[in-house]
Amino acid sequence: MNAKSFSFQEKLRELSEAFGPSNYEDDVRAIIRQTIEPWVDDIREDALGNLIARRKGKSDKRLMLDAHTDEIGVMVRHIDSRGFIRFATIGGWDDRIFPAHRVKFQSRTGQFYHGVVGMAPPHVLSPAQKEKGIPAEDYFVDIGANSAEEADELGAAIGDPGVLEYPFRQMAPNIFNGKAFDDRVGCLTLIGILKALAKGEIETPLEIYANFATSEEVGLRGAGPAAFGIDPQVAIAFEGTIGSDFPGVPEEKRPCAQRKGPVITVADKSVLVPRRMVQLMTDCAQQANLPYQIKMPTYGGTNAGAIHGSRAGILSGCIACPCRYIHSPNTTLYWPDFENTLALSKLVVSRVHTLV
Ligand SMILES: [Zn+2]
Repeated sequence: MNAKSFSFQEKLRELSEAFGPSNYEDDVRAIIRQTIEPWVDDIREDALGNLIARRKGKSDKRLMLDAHTDEIGVMVRHIDSRGFIRFATIGGWDDRIFPAHRVKFQSRTGQFYHGVVGMAPPHVLSPAQKEKGIPAEDYFVDIGANSAEEADELGAAIGDPGVLEYPFRQMAPNIFNGKAFDDRVGCLTLIGILKALAKGEIETPLEIYANFATSEEVGLRGAGPAAFGIDPQVAIAFEGTIGSDFPGVPEEKRPCAQRKGPVITVADKSVLVPRRMVQLMTDCAQQANLPYQIKMPTYGGTNAGAIHGSRAGILSGCIACPCRYIHSPNTTLYWPDFENTLALSKLVVSRVHTLV
């Protein structure tokens, strides 16, 4: 790859638009593999779908870096005689989000077919129906078929994975929307670290294992087994996390905010981070004059939680880029937040060997 042509914004577009609900992340892995191949010593994929890249180090100690490749999605549960699809959810959805969105499904042969989450217009709903809301299992997807046979001809089958489909776009100067910044922005952070190591911008004596983790959104399923195999002394997870500085969320319930820089985890629902790890991260930010924020305890959970409880216990932490509207098809980020997240992450990677 020609390094001069590398654009982080273009890479985020590619990653965010790639199809990758949990367990169906081949397209995301293919982009990452092709991007990082020149910068690492070897790459393998394990039985679950973790893509694990290694960079040799002078020390025999191992640093695991992790970002998850999956996004939340849906799965075909039922196809009725008129060709309408009912779906199950993959990962943590808010059921209010679904109606009237576009859906993209992948068939068993890898082809895509498209649909719209149908909804009854307000004209035909009773006041009680409007009030109550609809659970996800009662939504249907219209894929343009008029019978079960036509649905079959389009490739639809029980078990097909799908996502709500939205393109990446620039909404305002420095503000971007995309369907899967959780956690493709973490993948991009990890890609940026591997690039910086390869170009000699940063150094570490540690052997690096970059785990692009499968199936985080369905209960941190990939990272734990990957950590078991890698057997690291220390680990850092990279995320896109819960920016909630907008109307309707009181100040004391905002896990983090846009435009305030990288988010350092002290505690979330999956992990309590050892103080020396948090201290290293805040020292790195302060000494480099980078903005940072502490994620409000204890919202969310990350792969740091799955990794720290692996084997005999692994020193783990998490750095995230604030993203608004995660777990919706229009996650939104402020580009300097990403740049500062990457800058802090690179510093932490270059100094984390001092902890082990
Ligand atoms: Zn995530």
